[in-house]
Amino acid sequence: MKKLNGKAALVTGAGRGIGRAIAEAFAREGVTVAVTARTVAELDDLVAQVRAAGGKATAFQADLADRAAIPKLLAAVTAAIGPLDILVNNAGLGSSSDPKPVVDFEDDFWDLSMAINLTAPYLLTKAVLPPMIERGWGRIITVASINSRVHSFHGAAYAASKHAVLGFMRTVAAETAAQGITANCICPGPVKTLMNTKRMEYDAARLGRKFEEHEKLQTPIGGRLMPDDISPMAVYLASDDARMVTGQAYNVCGGLVMS
Ligand code: NAP
Repeated sequence: MKKLNGKAALVTGAGRGIGRAIAEAFAREGVTVAVTARTVAELDDLVAQVRAAGGKATAFQADLADRAAIPKLLAAVTAAIGPLDILVNNAGLGSSSDPKPVVDFEDDFWDLSMAINLTAPYLLTKAVLPPMIERGWGRIITVASINSRVHSFHGAAYAASKHAVLGFMRTVAAETAAQGITANCICPGPVKTLMNTKRMEYDAARLGRKFEEHEKLQTPIGGRLMPDDISPMAVYLASDDARMVTGQAYNVCGGLVMS
C-alpha cells in the first residue's frame, strides 16, 4: 500500500541532491509531484526517471530568488496538478557559495541567502495554506539544517536564514494546528550533494586536511549522509502516520548534533 497515494506535492530545488531524493520517494509512494528549480536539464532528467518507473512528475522552471516568480509558479503548478496537499521547501543557497567571516561578508550574498532560504519558503507557504485550510488537510515540510541549531563557520547568512526558517515553521505549525495542517522541519547534517561538497572542499583546505580525511570525520556514525538518508523522514512527515507531529525539527545528521 502506497503511503501517499493520490496526494499532490510541490518540491522545490528538486533537480538534484536532497530535493531530488524527496521527489523520487514521493513519486514511489503515489504522489503526483511538481518539481521546480532553475536548471531545466536536471528537472527533465528527474521527470523522465520518475515516469519511466511508473510515477507522476512534472517540471516547472523558476528562480525562487525572484519574488514575482512565486505566484506564477504556483499558478502553473495548480493548473497542471490541482491544489497542493504537500509543500516541500527544499531549495537552498549554501554557505559554500561565498564563505567569509562576518567582517568580510558580502551584503548581496546575505540578501540572496535570505531570499532563497527564508523569504521563498515564507511566500510559498503563505500562498498554499488557504486552500489547505479550506480542505482541512495539508503538510508543509521545510528542509532546514543542523545550522538551524548551531553556527555555520564563515556562513553567517546560512546559519541566520536556517535558524529563522525554523522559527517561521513553528509559527505556521501553531497557527494551523487545529486545521488539519502540520508544519515541520528536517535538519540534515552533511549530505553528499553539490552544495556540501563545495563546503567540504573549503573546510578541508581551511583546516589543512585531505578531502577524504575530512569527509570521514563529518559525523560520529562516519562520513557524510546520502540524499536517500533524508527522504524517508519527508515521506513520514507527509503521511497520516505523522498526523500528531507538528512544529518539530528532526535532526538527520549521523549523530552530529544531539539537541
Ligand atoms: P544542491 O544539491 O545544491 O541542490 C540545491 C537545489 O536547490 C537545486 O535543485 C537547485 O537548483 C535549487 N536552487 C538553488 N537556488 C535556487 C533558486 N534561486 N531558485 C530555485 N531553485 C534553486 O543542494 P542540497 O544539498 O540538496 O540542498 C537542499 C537543501 O538541503 C537546502 O535547503 C540546503 O540548505 C539543505 N541542507 C543541505 C545539507 C547538505 O549537507 N547537503 C545539509 C543541511 C541542509 P538550480 O541550481 O537548478 O536552481
